[in-house]
Amino acid sequence: MRITQVETFAVPPRWLFCRIETDEGAVGWGEPVVEGRAATVRTAVHELAEYLAGRDPMRIEDHWQVMTKGSFYRGGPVLSSAVAGIDQALWDIAGKTLGVPVHVLLGGPVRERVRAYSWVGGDEPGEIAEAVRAQVEAGFTAVKMNACGRMNRLATAADIAAVVERAATARDALGPERDFAIDFHGRFSAANARRILPHLAPLHPLFVEEPVLPEYAHRLGDVVSASAIPIATGERIYSRTEALPALQAGIAVLQPDLSHAGGISEVRRLASLAETFDVLLAPHCPLGPISLAASLQVAFSTPNFLIQEQSIGIHYNKGAELLDYVIDPEVFRFDEGHLRRPLGPGLGIEVDEQAVRRADGSARDWRSPVWRHDDGSFAEW
Ligand SMILES: [Mg+2]
Repeated sequence: MRITQVETFAVPPRWLFCRIETDEGAVGWGEPVVEGRAATVRTAVHELAEYLAGRDPMRIEDHWQVMTKGSFYRGGPVLSSAVAGIDQALWDIAGKTLGVPVHVLLGGPVRERVRAYSWVGGDEPGEIAEAVRAQVEAGFTAVKMNACGRMNRLATAADIAAVVERAATARDALGPERDFAIDFHGRFSAANARRILPHLAPLHPLFVEEPVLPEYAHRLGDVVSASAIPIATGERIYSRTEALPALQAGIAVLQPDLSHAGGISEVRRLASLAETFDVLLAPHCPLGPISLAASLQVAFSTPNFLIQEQSIGIHYNKGAELLDYVIDPEVFRFDEGHLRRPLGPGLGIEVDEQAVRRADGSARDWRSPVWRHDDGSFAEW
């Protein structure tokens, strides 16, 4: 079997899909994208496709090695995401060719269902209770929220009180049986995170995410030691070597993204590395159906898996929804806030190719918001 064609499709709301075709008819799908840099990653995918043309798609690991290490300058989100999408598509082809889901190739299922959480915002404190209640009614047992909107890197007493009030509102609406996680989104300095965490600890969040920016991983240990709250990070970590300082700093939850961190191949290894630190895996996934399907294949085969992020119905999916691009949305139907084990071959979804081809190029490229502080200086989003 040989790879004959690699195509990419830029589709709304902000996703990039790749389709790899073989001379024996097997087709695989992947989702290689960095939010806000879809066109850049698309170029990287086509550069890598030059190497893949005419090669055996079943040699996934060898291709991963060459794609990742085969140029002198390596790493970073763009290349790691391009490799990730191609890697997903190659696993899809392998599963379909052998007639089994990818998680069977990864050692078989270790659980029967996967717990997922929904997003409830948090930028606007007035909407939190209502948003939480809607997710509880929909059956979810966990939600995630922002701690704040734009914030100074050292907050005022009023800012700190507002963060705690948001979290308390969520806890009240959830009761003690359900979980909420809080995303600091790298908006705080390490000192600010240390100051706020002890105030949140009595509310028992499941975890606090990105308490500092990934470039300050050398400060993570200080943050971890500030309270008993489990600390999570990883959506902006792209490889095992980048994950190591965070793991050594004592984080509790590693959150690699299947579409950023080298795909199924590398996230599988990141999960295994995390296990040696007694750290749980919670794959980041604000993206589309292929990325979520790839996440589930890892979730079902990873013993130290905690919970899955997903973006179905989320406010920032403007112009298209995750379910618009799959033939059978049943795969992503929630049952008491859990997803069932996908039994289809490969990634376990059937991509609606006609819908993808129709949507290609139909939306303006999405860009990250640029925030400013009151004095006009740049603020972390
Ligand atoms: Mg996050």
